[in-house]
Amino acid sequence: MDKQGIIEAIEAKKEKFITAANNIWETPELRFATKKSVQEHYNILETEDFTIEKGVAGMENAYVATFGSGKPIIGILGEYDALSNLSQVADLAEQKPLISGANGHGCGHNLLGTGAVAGAVGIKEYLKESGLSGTIKLYGCPAEEGGCGKSYMAREGLFDDLDLALSWHPADTTEAWGDSSLAVYHVYYHFNGTAAHAAGAPEMGRSALDAAELMNTGVQYLREHIIDQARIHYAYKDAGGTSPNVVQSSATLFYYIRAPKIEQAKEIYKRVNKIAEGAALMTETTMSVELDSACFDYIPNQALTTAIYKNLELLTPLEFTPEELRYEQKYFDTVPNIVKENLFASTLAAFPDKKEEEIKTIAEMPINSELFPLKFSQQTGGSTDVGDVSWIVPTAQAYIACEPHGTPAHSWQWVANGKSSVAHKGLLAAGKALALTAYDALNHPELIAKAKSEHQKNLNGKSYQCEIPMNILPGK
Ligand SMILES: [Zn+2]
Repeated sequence: MDKQGIIEAIEAKKEKFITAANNIWETPELRFATKKSVQEHYNILETEDFTIEKGVAGMENAYVATFGSGKPIIGILGEYDALSNLSQVADLAEQKPLISGANGHGCGHNLLGTGAVAGAVGIKEYLKESGLSGTIKLYGCPAEEGGCGKSYMAREGLFDDLDLALSWHPADTTEAWGDSSLAVYHVYYHFNGTAAHAAGAPEMGRSALDAAELMNTGVQYLREHIIDQARIHYAYKDAGGTSPNVVQSSATLFYYIRAPKIEQAKEIYKRVNKIAEGAALMTETTMSVELDSACFDYIPNQALTTAIYKNLELLTPLEFTPEELRYEQKYFDTVPNIVKENLFASTLAAFPDKKEEEIKTIAEMPINSELFPLKFSQQTGGSTDVGDVSWIVPTAQAYIACEPHGTPAHSWQWVANGKSSVAHKGLLAAGKALALTAYDALNHPELIAKAKSEHQKNLNGKSYQCEIPMNILPGK
């Protein structure tokens, strides 16, 4: 079996991957509570000769599915969690919840996880036929969205024996993921004060809500004195109730503190803690810091990312039927003009050698079929728990165009599009890209050696130590 054989093996089983992706779309589950979604993975893996260890790292719905034996050991990472309040009617080009206030697959993780399963099954077929030494480990990772599920798996040492790790993410372009991501700390700040009648005995009250507001004000002043690339955002988890005539005795803020490097994020986190202490001091309330979770910055491995890129070259341009293009056009029509203008600018930046007319054609595609050129080191705004894995082993990821051009992640358009034939094509292309890159690693030990030496160089003497203390349990 060669690369073409792997592609055909994935195509031959495509119906089961598509069915699983659709079923996961139908039952969008949040964070660690992904019981039905993970079952869809088990249904496939149990019929595909994988040995599944369920409930790993203290997470009921996390798993490691293994096939093969001996070195190298190749990890593939999959996700299946959804987002809150993103319910949306499928295939409809206007925002309309299927169930008001319910969850939805706004980040395409119904495709992400199933594409990873497709990749694992594809390379398993090759390993089985070739009889080569090698082990595939597929990781079922809950709570990517705000829960750092992989960080808990990393804390348990589940990635330590890998030679490399591969993953992908749905996107509106197809490219090898050469960008780093922001490290992040997710932190609760709890304030406790004293309740009292707000008019009758205000002098008796100590307001936790005042403390929360002073903390936020303090953090606004901090922003001027941190690095430009850092990001700090917050939400009120508890504003102390809804009665203005009661001095609020409790308040909780939930902060995300992000920076390009984990040590930078940690430094800012410590400074935010001081502001919280100051707010408590000013209001004579008490404050406690509760770290929820933390993810490292993502370090793209250039050798491995280049290997994924070469396989994407084999799989692109993605082909779409006129009907699929019309289908995607209806979502593309919802993209604001200013964003469309930015698409032109970003396409021009990506393809500096193309003529303006070609750039215009690409920028105006309702679904992007082109492979974007390989580039490294451009910082992106988000964070991912794949960051932790990338500190432990050489890691590479792909973006595959599954989503309408110009639409953002976590949008109703991504949910509406999530069961379309375009989305399915993307998940199959992703499975192929992962399996073909695993094939390269199995057949070219020098690729692994190169990736590992680059990894050591990137770490520059540092080593991974999970930022989530052992006493913090996932989802608790
Ligand atoms: Zn995502």
